[in-house]
Amino acid sequence: MNAKEMISRLRNSYDSGKTRPLDYRIEQLKKLKKMYLENQEVIVQALSADLHKCRHESIVMEFMFLVNDLDNILVNIKEWDKPETPEKPFVNILDKLYVFNDPYGVVLVIGAWNYPFQLLLMPVAGAIAAGNCVVMKPSEVASNSAKVISELIPKYLDNDCYQVYTGGIPETTSLLKEKFDYIFYTGSSGVGKIIQEAAAKHLTPTTLELGGKSPVYLDDSVNMKTAVKRILWGKLANAGQTCVAPDYLLCTKNVEKKFLEISREILKQWYGDETNKSLDFGRIINDAHFQRIQKLLKSGSVAIGGNILPSERYIEPTILVDVKPTDPVMMEEIFGPVLPIITIGNLHDAITFINKREKPLAMYIFSKRKDDVNLLIKNTSCGGICVNDTIMHLTVDTLPFGGVGNSGMGHYHGKYTFDTFSHKKSCLYKNLGVIGEKLGESRYPPFNERKTKFLMTLLKRRAPMSFGFLRYVLAFGLGAASIFMYYNSQGMIRKG
Ligand code: NAD
Repeated sequence: MNAKEMISRLRNSYDSGKTRPLDYRIEQLKKLKKMYLENQEVIVQALSADLHKCRHESIVMEFMFLVNDLDNILVNIKEWDKPETPEKPFVNILDKLYVFNDPYGVVLVIGAWNYPFQLLLMPVAGAIAAGNCVVMKPSEVASNSAKVISELIPKYLDNDCYQVYTGGIPETTSLLKEKFDYIFYTGSSGVGKIIQEAAAKHLTPTTLELGGKSPVYLDDSVNMKTAVKRILWGKLANAGQTCVAPDYLLCTKNVEKKFLEISREILKQWYGDETNKSLDFGRIINDAHFQRIQKLLKSGSVAIGGNILPSERYIEPTILVDVKPTDPVMMEEIFGPVLPIITIGNLHDAITFINKREKPLAMYIFSKRKDDVNLLIKNTSCGGICVNDTIMHLTVDTLPFGGVGNSGMGHYHGKYTFDTFSHKKSCLYKNLGVIGEKLGESRYPPFNERKTKFLMTLLKRRAPMSFGFLRYVLAFGLGAASIFMYYNSQGMIRKG
C-alpha cells in the first residue's frame, strides 16, 4: 500500500466515526498494552541489536515508560475526555460554556532512533486516546526496532485506523506530501524545519520534539559525589544518545578539579577497568554518528577516557577540559558519551554563556544556593529544568515535556499528550430566555449612546464569581434593573 492509499483508508475509518467512542479507544489502548507485555523480550533484543542497549536501560527507559504511560491514560481517560466547563464571565451568567476535546483526524507520528519504541509509541498512545487515526513512522536508523514495530502493531491494533509506514528519507518525503491533520515529530532541529515546511503547505499543526545542547551548572555547595554520579548517569545512559543528556558542564576551575577526581572513581566503580567489556555501556548507532563524535574528541584536551574501537562503534566515556566556546564540540549537539567542561568565573558567566546560544531542551542546575538557582531559572530560557539531577524531570508525567525555540515547540507526556492530540473546540451554549435576550438587546441597531454605555457596563471584566444559585438571583436582579433602566431612559416610567 502506498502512502496515498494508506491515508485514504485511515481517513475513511476516521470519517465513519469508528475511533470516536471511548470504549473503542480504551479497547485499542488495552491491546497496545498487551502488545508490550507479551513482547518485552522481543523489544529488549531489538534494542540490543540496534544500540547495544543493556537490558536494564531497555526495560526501565523504554518498556516501563510505555507501560506506565498507558496505565496512566487508562486510569484517567474518562476524566480527560469530558468537556471542560470553564469559568463564566459575568455577561454569560445565564449561558453554558464548554470546551470539547475533538480529535484532529488522521495524524502522523515520526519517531527518532535513540529511544525507538518510547519516542514513537508514547505519542501514538495519546493520539489513540484522543480518538485519532494514526500513521506511525519509525526511524529507519534503528532498523531492528522499526522491524519489530512494523510486525507487531498490525497484529494487535485495528489496521483500519492505525498503520505503520516504514522507510527512510524518500519514504518520509513522500508521506509528507500528503495532508495530515496533525504531525508529531521527534528528531533533529534540521529535519524539524523540513517537517514544519511540509506541514505549512497544508496548514497542518505540528509538535516538534527536537534537541540541542543542554547545559549543566555545578557549584561547590552540593555533595560532589552525588552530583558527579547524577551528571555522569545522564551523560552515559544510552552512550550519551539521549535528547536531554547533559551536553556540557559549566563550573569553576576548583569544581572542575573535584569533578574529575570523583569521576575517575565513579567510572571505575560502574564499568571496571575496561569499559568496552562492560555489558552496561552502549554503542554508537551507526558509522556516520561514530565518525562525527570521534572528530569532536579533538576539542580541548582529554582528561578522562578518549579511547575508541571503530569496529564496535565504541567510544569510551570521555571528559574534555580546556575547551573553548568556539571548539567543534561546542558547536553542535554531542549526542555521544563525551562531556566537555567549560570553566567560568561565576554564576553570571554561566547565564551569559547559556543565553548566547540556542535555547536548549533541558538545563541542569546543581546547587544548594536557592538564590543562585532562582537567578538561573529566571534569567535563561530552555525546554525544562531539573535541579540537582539530570533527565529525571521527563519521568514526571504531570510535567509537560518539550523544547522551546531551536529545541522544539509543543509538549507532551501524561495528560499533555492527550491534549496535544485534541483540538480544544469551544462552545458557547446561549440561554434563549426573555431576561437573557433583554440583557443583550443593546447589541442590535439602531445604536445610540445609551446602548453603548449599557453594553460597556455589562461587558466590563469583573473578578470571577463562584456563588452557585446566587447567580440566578443576581441575574434576575440585573435583568429587572436593565429593563427598569431601559424604560426609564425612554421616559416611559415617570415619577408620580
Ligand atoms: P533520525 O535520523 O531517526 O530522524 C528522525 C526521523 O526523521 C526519522 O523517522 C527519519 O526517517 C526522519 N527523517 C530524517 N531525515 C529526514 C528528511 N530529510 N526528511 C524527512 N524525514 C527525515 O533521528 P535524528 O534526527 O538523528 O535524531 C537525533 C536528534 O533528535 C537529536 O538532535 C536529538 O536531540 C533529537 N531528539 C529529540 C527528542 C525529544 O524528545 N525532544 C528525543 C530524541 C531525539
